[in-house]
Amino acid sequence: MALTITRTQYPKTKPQDYSKGFGNILTDHMFLMDYTEAEGWHDPRILPFGALALTPATMCFHYGQEIFEGMKAYRTEDGRLLLFRPMDHMRRLNHSCERICIPQVCEEELLDYLKELLKTDLDWIQDSNVDSIYIRPMIIATEPVFGARPAKDYTCMAMLTPGRPHIPKGPKPVRIYVEKEQARAVRGGTGTAKCAGNYASTFAAQAKAKAQGYTQVLWLDGAERRYVEEMGQMNIFFVIKGELITPDLSGTILDGITRRSLLAIAKDLGYQTVERRISIQEIMTAHADGTLQEAFGCGTGACIAPVGELTYGECHMNIGNGSIGTVTFTLFERLTQIQRGLVPDPYGWTM
Ligand code: PMP
Repeated sequence: MALTITRTQYPKTKPQDYSKGFGNILTDHMFLMDYTEAEGWHDPRILPFGALALTPATMCFHYGQEIFEGMKAYRTEDGRLLLFRPMDHMRRLNHSCERICIPQVCEEELLDYLKELLKTDLDWIQDSNVDSIYIRPMIIATEPVFGARPAKDYTCMAMLTPGRPHIPKGPKPVRIYVEKEQARAVRGGTGTAKCAGNYASTFAAQAKAKAQGYTQVLWLDGAERRYVEEMGQMNIFFVIKGELITPDLSGTILDGITRRSLLAIAKDLGYQTVERRISIQEIMTAHADGTLQEAFGCGTGACIAPVGELTYGECHMNIGNGSIGTVTFTLFERLTQIQRGLVPDPYGWTM
């Protein structure tokens, strides 16, 4: 489909400091494309960034029929822009569509439109204060009627926000609160989709954890609250007795692209890796006997977040003396170097 591009007459003044800009600072343009039953996906267009006109009856506001993605492009030292595993993100977007009953998009076409959006806002990415750009595609149900059923009309959108500045030494460890009551996802639910409801339902626990001085929540399984699942909006890894352990994709966990990438890198670096169920009890035991060496969350936004403290009820587990662990740092460094084109990419992940 032919893409139309309407450039803004009023480019924004770019900030000097992007450190707090993630999600707040948005570039000058956005992508839109509509779906109707009669026409399918049509009218792909890039427009000046701005508000949408939707009536209060619009279905996404009532029943949460919405999905989104989060991917990044990194600027290399020689001025190229590298998308990281973009087709994996397109495939996951369609997986989310399928689960939430939204018509799927053509993955190749959507990626082409996103590349055009990046080109349209290239001056943002070339700003020397920016080194990555986060791309947020999303689809909402736009049919303006009540009715708890799949909508007939949808809009696909995408916007760009300059990423947090890269910290070559790796991020600082965070404090994590293990949530005992609420659950993020249940078997048969929507845990494997990136849909709005999965996030809204986590905010109460997140707010409770924040109020107690924690950065994020560690989610346990929805059935027994026994097995570890995810850490906030990240997947989680543990290093126990030198082995790298991450919960397996049980049907309730988001199949993170950073998780997938770190598993591959770790294997190639010679680490023992295992994807399996891991209980909070096992982690407490490993902490007690001194074999819990490292823990970290991972995702596109922050790449890696080392866990410095894990609290489960009265049990406070300190991990790694306040600094990033060796395995965590090794994986962080290798992944970020591939993403930024500082080393050759043997996996074909960058585009
Ligand atoms: N789990 C959840 C719930 C997430 O929202 C994210 C972020 N997309 C992740 C894990 C990490 O996924 P990725 O590495 O693909 O960003």
